[in-house]
Amino acid sequence: MANKRDYYEVLGVSKNATEEEIKKAYRKKAIQYHPDNNPGDKTAEEKFKEASEAYEVLSNKEKRAMYDRYGHQGVSGNTTNFHDFDPSDIFSHFGDIFSGTGFESFFGTSSQKRKVNRGSDLRVRVKLTLEEIASGVEKKIKVTKYVTCNTCKGTGAKSSSAYYTCSTCKGTGEVRKVTRTFVGSMQTVSVCPECNGDGKIIREKCSSCAGEGRVQAEEIIVVNIPPGVRQDMQLSVTGKGNAARRGGINGDLLVVIEEIKHEHFVRDENNNIIYDLFISLPDAALGTTVEVPTLKGKAKVKIEPGTQSGKILRIKEGGIPFIQSQQRGDLLIYINVWTPRKLSNEERSILEKLRNSPNFHPNPKTEEKSFFDRIKDLF
Ligand SMILES: [Zn+2]
Ligand SMILES: [Zn+2]
Repeated sequence: MANKRDYYEVLGVSKNATEEEIKKAYRKKAIQYHPDNNPGDKTAEEKFKEASEAYEVLSNKEKRAMYDRYGHQGVSGNTTNFHDFDPSDIFSHFGDIFSGTGFESFFGTSSQKRKVNRGSDLRVRVKLTLEEIASGVEKKIKVTKYVTCNTCKGTGAKSSSAYYTCSTCKGTGEVRKVTRTFVGSMQTVSVCPECNGDGKIIREKCSSCAGEGRVQAEEIIVVNIPPGVRQDMQLSVTGKGNAARRGGINGDLLVVIEEIKHEHFVRDENNNIIYDLFISLPDAALGTTVEVPTLKGKAKVKIEPGTQSGKILRIKEGGIPFIQSQQRGDLLIYINVWTPRKLSNEERSILEKLRNSPNFHPNPKTEEKSFFDRIKDLF
């Protein structure tokens, strides 16, 4: 990890490059270093793979934010290992990046590669407590999914000699037909009828997977959830989805966040957490120290003598971190002065005496600040 180059440096763009600039820079590098343009040049191939990895991270908003914040550590385990990839597969992996540029046929047709199958994405929901969201958490998620068949290593054939390249399509999985019309010739591309698009024909199928090249299995996937995620936010873990039929690229695992309702706190739009504190009338008048829950345990807060209901106390940075910055919300303590509902005879007589005492007559004008001014001060 330590010897990895900075992704921005790899693509030769600045830290605040736009999506379009990143795309352009990658296209340029990909064409410059593509193995088809540098036959037998291992350094070029490495550079090509390095650029592809950088592009994968920087072209994805979430991954880029994670990378900006935590560096390579932040995206490790969430990126595709391109070093095990065939370079032409990398092109299919990025899909349409070359479309509309005139480069789309640059490699696709020259390398006569079969279109690579891709497994479907897998979506799971993960429930998180506010505490887990505040600190970030590693979750082990058990999924049932398609994995590559171990017996045939994904080929679907009983042995390596049990299949052969389809002669109709020469392994491309598609057939092209040129039709002459009045206005000229027209080319149509369709799935090869001989091999159904697989590019190869299996003489004897693997018995473990019945020729599918993949089997259903349970897998435990470890997902690193960064601090600050929100309800319905979706994280994608590249390559952890379903395996493709008969080899190819795995789909992604999409992790959808669900926030568990907290027993004490409510999270607001600004990543503050709000706690409703109830204090007694004597505590509000005389002042005291109370213990309040926090995301990390407990904290003591001082209640000044003469505290009004509606006052908001703030514990700086006691809230949830923002996913895209170093900032963190606060813990806001809303004070509610509790009015007793049941009274004993003795309590009633004390309160009767206090009722007419001049200091017990509400007189908001003597307050330096109104409730609304205090709210304004907070934001
Ligand atoms: Zn198999
Ligand atoms: Zn075929």
